[in-house]
Amino acid sequence: MTHSHQTESDAAPTSADLPGQGGIRAPLNFVNGSDSAGTGERELTVYNPATGEVEHVFNVTTPEQVGEVVAVAKAAQKEWGESAVAHRAAVMYEVRDALRRHADELADLIVTENGKTKVDALGEVNRGLESIEFACGVADHTAGRYSRDVSKGIDVHQVREPLGVVGCITPFNFPVMVPLWMIANALSTGNAVILKPSEKSPTATTRLAEIMTEAGIPPGVFNVVQGDAATAGALIEHPDVAAISFVGSTPVAKAIYEQGTKLGKRVQALGGAKNHMVVLPDANLDDAANAAVGAAFGAAGERCMAVSVLVAVGDVADPLIEKISGLMSKLTVGPGNEGGSDFGPVISREHRDRVAGFLDASGEAGGALVVDGRKNERFEQDGYFIGPSLIDNITPGTACYDNEIFGPVLAVMRVSSLDEAIDVVNENPYGNGAALFTESGGAARRFEADTKIGMLGINVPIPVPVGWYSFGGWKSSLFGDSHMYGEEGVRFFTRAKVVTSRWKDGSK
Ligand code: NAD
Repeated sequence: MTHSHQTESDAAPTSADLPGQGGIRAPLNFVNGSDSAGTGERELTVYNPATGEVEHVFNVTTPEQVGEVVAVAKAAQKEWGESAVAHRAAVMYEVRDALRRHADELADLIVTENGKTKVDALGEVNRGLESIEFACGVADHTAGRYSRDVSKGIDVHQVREPLGVVGCITPFNFPVMVPLWMIANALSTGNAVILKPSEKSPTATTRLAEIMTEAGIPPGVFNVVQGDAATAGALIEHPDVAAISFVGSTPVAKAIYEQGTKLGKRVQALGGAKNHMVVLPDANLDDAANAAVGAAFGAAGERCMAVSVLVAVGDVADPLIEKISGLMSKLTVGPGNEGGSDFGPVISREHRDRVAGFLDASGEAGGALVVDGRKNERFEQDGYFIGPSLIDNITPGTACYDNEIFGPVLAVMRVSSLDEAIDVVNENPYGNGAALFTESGGAARRFEADTKIGMLGINVPIPVPVGWYSFGGWKSSLFGDSHMYGEEGVRFFTRAKVVTSRWKDGSK
């Protein structure tokens, strides 16, 4: 390897030196180890959701530019892909240390562009780090199999090789964690990456690439291109991009899956969600209420694993609603960088108005708006704030149930039995996460066996698997057959080669 190991002090100037109007870095591309800008004429605007102010205006990366980045990545991948696995593991350890050192800085960027609280943003960086820690074990993950004498004198072994250049496309709600879900295994197994972050929260991802490159990922191996659907489309279409890893909304996930697979590419496309939390009469209702409030309103409900439907079994609905409403009245909605805020704004003015529109529709088919987030004093302010809302008596077939609201809205559905609750969960087209709160092991066991959901929590409200398992929903929450990060991530970013060999012993 010819790669030189830079220290932070002698690193080249970074986008950190190019503050935007709001004082934070510009959303630049990061290509071949340095920052550059998109050359497209079309401009995109990044807002600070806590103030409504323009943070940056930047130019999109054109399809031609994407082609140039693919060429850079292709050239850089060769040496990286052929480098010793022990070297790549060592680099991942360096990356882990660097990200720990820069966690606070990354969290501040996330807060400014995404709006979540600083505590939440730090949690995001730390959950993403789990994927890097997993990737430090790449030597073990890519170790092959060997069978001697499958026939007399004939041996078989299998190895896993990188795919080459891979494309990653990520959503606005986790600008550091979701990229890390993808790139940790993609890079450790020897691929080069081109990542297109969300145009709504683009900057932290560029900083991530800078930090990782300073830590030892060779220039050209991890590149970031800024833009929107057109930029992402160019990446998907490019013949030298072997695979696409996507996280975002269901319609886009489905479209990208179809587009990529039609071109013969490997695609994993994770989509949206409508996560149910079922509460049985034997559950500890204080624990359940606390869990529901954290899981529904944390990060303003903009998590793909947020709980958005609370399925109350038997007579738990009234006492639960009372406890939840009490907790909701104590929540503080405010800027993510203010210490007392429990959750911040949603991502855009249009999205806040869309969430408010669902509250208008909450009375459909007997639904009742118990707590109206529009009454929160922040709602009229310049940032995109909306308070926590609670809807009772929600039913399938209504706008508030059938759509992913992706805001601080919790809806309660009343059912009479665990069987009915399981049917509700299974009939929903999404299948990302579901939770059950109960004191009964038997009920938990049945819930586990009978629900058609990718990730379950038993007395745990947001069951995001740790980094050495894999993350993925079922049904309309995932297109493709491989989950993200962990062991399935390694398989996604590598392909198997099986060698059958016969060596005659020349001495005999
Ligand atoms: P989005 O689908 O609007 O955008 C995601 C990414 O796709 C962005 O980078 C965007 O620029 C790009 N994009 C948009 N349209 C495209 C197109 N036609 N072709 C190619 N690329 C396109 O999603 P979002 O609003 O940024 O994120 C919120 C959504 O993501 C929610 O639905 C949420 O549930 C989902 N999400 C899912 C998971 C999961 O793991 N399943 C995790 C986080 C977020």
